[in-house]
Amino acid sequence: MEIKKTNACINCDNLMQNSLCRVNNIQVSFDQTCENFSPRLELHRDSECGNCSKYNQESCAHPAAAAEGMLCTDYKLAQTEAVHALD
Ligand code: SF4
Ligand code: SF4
Repeated sequence: MEIKKTNACINCDNLMQNSLCRVNNIQVSFDQTCENFSPRLELHRDSECGNCSKYNQESCAHPAAAAEGMLCTDYKLAQTEAVHALD
């Protein structure tokens, strides 16, 4: 059996904290989707603030809590890490 990924809110770049959709401005379930789906660079087993593109940036959702080994739902893989993560 082939296991496939879905284009759902859970892996959409428009999903924000508290399950809020940035585009539709509503709370969504992780298994929903819409035509504005925008794939988020993948979470992987080594995902953490240290390889998040928002680490130490104004765009970080939790600047006071961000640290190596931490992770939040606003995680976005740093471009420099993307190739490695998709291996
Ligand atoms: S843009 Fe669509 S797929 Fe993405 S979080 Fe919002 S409702 Fe879900
Ligand atoms: S994972 Fe979350 S808290 Fe950590 S650097 Fe990225 S946005 Fe900030």
